[in-house]
This record gives sequence, C-alpha cells and structure tokens, in this order.
Amino acid sequence: MAQAIAGPEIERLIQLLARLPGLGPRSARRAALHLINRREQLLSPLADAMRVAAERIVVCESCGNIDTSDPCTICRDMGRDRSILVVVEGVSDLWALERAGAVRAGYHVLGGVLSPLDGVRPEHLALDGLVARAALPETRELILALNATVDGQTTAHYVTDLVAHLPVRVTKLAHGVPVGGELDYLDEGTLTAAMRQRTAV
Ligand code: ZN
Repeated sequence: MAQAIAGPEIERLIQLLARLPGLGPRSARRAALHLINRREQLLSPLADAMRVAAERIVVCESCGNIDTSDPCTICRDMGRDRSILVVVEGVSDLWALERAGAVRAGYHVLGGVLSPLDGVRPEHLALDGLVARAALPETRELILALNATVDGQTTAHYVTDLVAHLPVRVTKLAHGVPVGGELDYLDEGTLTAAMRQRTAV
C-alpha cells in the first residue's frame, strides 16, 4: 500500500472519491485537492447536498425511479401521456431519455437485465410491477428502451412474452445509424440493423 501523504481525514476523502466511476487514485487525489482548495464554494455545499440526498432519497414504489418523494416527480407529473410506459434497465437510462426529451410518458425501471452469466434471473427484476402496470386499462403501449446488448434483447423478448396476453402494444427502440454518424465508422451489427430497419423516405 502507498504511504499516506496527508492526515486520515484527507486520506479517507481521497479513498472514497477513488471509488466513484471514472476516478482512479490519481484523479481522486486531484479532485480532493480541488475540493479542499474551494472549501467554502464547493466542499461544504457538496457535503451538505450529499447529506441531504442520503437522508431523503427514496425509490418510487410505482416505477422504480429514485427521487426525494414517493411517488416520484415523473409519476406525479400530470402532463405526461399515461397510456405509454417506457421500460428501462436503470435510472441512468431514464435520465438519458429525459435529457433528450424524447418522450413525455411514464417509465418503469427494471433494475437490471436478465443475465445468465451474472446470475440475474426474472425474480431479481421489477417484472411483477411491470405486468401489473401493463394490465391497467389506461396502459396502451410499452416501449422497451433496453440496451442493444444480448442481455438487453433477451430481456426484451422475455418482457414481450410476459405481457403477450394483455391488450397492450409492445414496441422497442430502433437500432440504426447514430445522428451525425458516418457509415464508414459503424460496426457491422449496427449497419446490418440499420439496413434491416430502413424506412420509406
Ligand atoms: Zn415513479
């Protein structure tokens, strides 16, 4: 183990920062120093914000989103199309879709995807809640916004079978050429999917 270069409080701050995604020990050290140098403007407000978040954050019982209220802000938003549920793997996907403003609908967070390799089975995912919501009279469409990975697509098939007896339309995201993308740079899987899902001009 490397020798400590600061007191235990600072070392602990560095060690915790190093556990954040995208930060290694070196960048954690830099981030810690950045925070320490801006104690009033950044370190103290950040500590307060983290404490408040840690105390108030709850998981929405309806959709699985994380928020400081249950039902969450999205579930309480009356301006959304209640007939559509967007099914996502995790909250980060929900946030990504919301940032894009792609759809003003409800969501359902599965909390993962089926993965035989990682031991993720149907009982580990929020599938009962999804079927219950899909069976509500107001629900008319499930949009499966799952990753274009083997596990994501396996999960999409599983969900489709699970709600097959319900009068709900099941759709999934198109795979294709990214906006601003050049054909030359695309992998073969993406190109083939884009060709297969071509649309009339
Ligand atoms: Zn919710």
